[in-house]
Amino acid sequence: MIKFVNVSKVYPNGSVALENVNLEIGKGEFVTIVGPSGAGKTTLNKLMLDEERPTEGTVLFENVDINTFSRSQITALRRRIGTVFQEFRLLPNKTAYENIAFAMEAAGKSDEEIVSDVPHVLQLVDMADRMFHFPNQLSGGEKQRLAIARAIINQPEVLIADEPTGNLDSRNTAEVIEILKKINDLGTTVILTTHDPQLIKAVGQRIISMERGRVVGDDQRAATVI
Ligand code: ADP
Repeated sequence: MIKFVNVSKVYPNGSVALENVNLEIGKGEFVTIVGPSGAGKTTLNKLMLDEERPTEGTVLFENVDINTFSRSQITALRRRIGTVFQEFRLLPNKTAYENIAFAMEAAGKSDEEIVSDVPHVLQLVDMADRMFHFPNQLSGGEKQRLAIARAIINQPEVLIADEPTGNLDSRNTAEVIEILKKINDLGTTVILTTHDPQLIKAVGQRIISMERGRVVGDDQRAATVI
């Protein structure tokens, strides 16, 4: 589904973020990318979203080179990939319901769809009783679950979660991982990045290790409880 072929990325200031990365992520996989800060994880995500372009090599989405995309093709690509970030990025003046409704409106969904789908997705992330809370009335774990609900509401094929548990304690981290697994079970490809080696024990499945811009490990593991 997503393929990196001999990808290197050097930023204009000379920082080498990725060096000859070759990677293939299949439809329906749950992939965890682990590596210390500066390893190149966020850059990898940005290349998948066509927010940055490789200095060398090719990034393919369903066998199409996304780095040839026009602006409208990039918009279409980003509709197919939901994103979640460490710092939540919720709209502070909107309730949980409105944060999700806003994302649906932006994607051209009808009022009927919004009214029927928003409660549904909030239930999926166990937030049905927080529907009319504003972000500052939610705990960190609840904020992240809301951000996940917003990221999946328009049914993307891929969900990229970039350090989604970076601001969370261990209990909320475990809840977020469980929700990501549930979303993966429902058919969405999930790409999780983390600097926390502890976390990969809970996630299991495919673990890609990165160091200094290179992929240094790629293996399948079973999950254990943290
Ligand atoms: P990670 O997500 O694993 O922390 P990043 O992809 O953010 O890694 O960064 C990889 C390397 O690229 C780091 O050395 C970082 O300083 C550098 N880098 C990231 N973004 C930029 C940028 N916009 N301009 C210059 N250097 C950058």
